[in-house]
Amino acid sequence: MNFVETRGNDGVKPVEATFSHAILNPSASFGGLYVPKELPVLEENFILNHKDKSYKELAFDILKAFEIDIDESEINKALDLYDNFDDKNNPCPVVKVKNDLFVHEQYHGPTRAFKDMALQPFGSILSSIAKKRDEKYLILAATSGDTGPAALNTFKNKENIQVACLYPDGGTSDVQKLQMVCEDGKNLKVIGIKGNFDDAQSALKSLLASDSFKEELQNDGIKLSAANSVNFGRIIFQIIYHFWSYIQLLKQEEITFGEKIYLIVPSGNFGNVLGGFYAQNMGVPIEKLLVASNENNILTQWINTGIYDIRGKDLKLTKSPAMDILKSSNIERVIYSLYGAQRTKELMTDLNDNNIFTMTEDETKKLQKYFSAVNSDDNYGQKIIKEFLDEGYLMDPHTATCLKAYENLKEKNLKTVLYSTAEWTKFSPTVLNSLNNNDTKYSDKEALDEISSKYNANLPQSIKDLFTAKINHDSIIDKENIESEIVKFIREA
Ligand SMILES: *Cc1c(COP(=O)(O)O)cnc(C)c1O
Repeated sequence: MNFVETRGNDGVKPVEATFSHAILNPSASFGGLYVPKELPVLEENFILNHKDKSYKELAFDILKAFEIDIDESEINKALDLYDNFDDKNNPCPVVKVKNDLFVHEQYHGPTRAFKDMALQPFGSILSSIAKKRDEKYLILAATSGDTGPAALNTFKNKENIQVACLYPDGGTSDVQKLQMVCEDGKNLKVIGIKGNFDDAQSALKSLLASDSFKEELQNDGIKLSAANSVNFGRIIFQIIYHFWSYIQLLKQEEITFGEKIYLIVPSGNFGNVLGGFYAQNMGVPIEKLLVASNENNILTQWINTGIYDIRGKDLKLTKSPAMDILKSSNIERVIYSLYGAQRTKELMTDLNDNNIFTMTEDETKKLQKYFSAVNSDDNYGQKIIKEFLDEGYLMDPHTATCLKAYENLKEKNLKTVLYSTAEWTKFSPTVLNSLNNNDTKYSDKEALDEISSKYNANLPQSIKDLFTAKINHDSIIDKENIESEIVKFIREA
């Protein structure tokens, strides 16, 4: 299957691209993104036929339906990485917490957040393509805290790949920072930026667009790519687990085949819920996708009004930082699916030029057939964390935003799966503040120890080890020096 561009073709880039091309060169004409030309049509009874299959078998068959240009042996090697999750037979368990409510735990991978679900296999595939083509790539990543650790973990010591990871110094949790600065592959460079996540992300975007930087890399025989969720190589792995949600409810005899369900997804860049949208369009019986946001409520506004307006808006720093967003990259793929390339280009140009786009009433209605949205604030999240732990279930602040959608957005009495995108261990000070109903400044270490002993909560060995691990990266630099720091790293490696 080939890939096309969300904003149409500029006459220079290929009109249709292979999967390998789309993931090695993720930026398409006019600043657009790659999307599958059409979604695969699955065999009749695909879902029922996979009721007793493993996660890896399900994943393999979905990837196969996309007819991607990757050897089967490489696909299998990539999928084998799910064996390193807590339970190799069930890498992302779906757990019942109330009569009609289920939590899909996406954080059982090596870095304890949902980014592993896609980045683990993606890293393996990307490295195998680079090797096959005998090309070297520098992967840039900017992170607010979860993408960085997941990208470093997956690319560590991979052939033909180097990674430069930018994080805002002081802007991540201790655990997230340690997960990055203790990572030890020779091909990895971790750089703290004096600034916030926006600064890190802007620096990354300007490097990706810089011809002089690309030329400099080219002299060393290195090409540039990115590991954020504009890369379809991540999105494709985020379709699979939405099938898994449905199959798990079937297996647990909570639904009968054909019965619709709601999915609730705590959202930022819209990659997770986009996977749900594709899964729905490929035949998973989903009533609606419910989008949860925090106080950065841009997605709620867009879905409720058809207007995406970031004029004069500042990013708010919340207790669910992975959802702190103004420009959400993957809404573009939904817009393309619903209204086509020409309209996508119009709306995205408006957003770039004027910081606002406005859809028509008909367009908005069409969007609302698939999505509903609501946002909540930190106080709400902290109240939810406490309420659920009182009932014996420990969740992180991102997961907690989903409960607002569960309370407000369901129009029908249907079974509902909400996505838990991070383990509590990555945000333990916030969790402890919620439990103690205070705003004491705890270190991650204090909070982890207190919660695990008081509530008998499991602390993974990988988290415990962080506090005694050797620190391998200590660069903290000004934004102006990012390019030279990366060039230095390339030359030395
Ligand atoms: C990345 C992330 C999100 C947001 O996911 P998107 O695909 O960007 O919408 C939500 N929660 C956590 C914990 C994350 O790491």
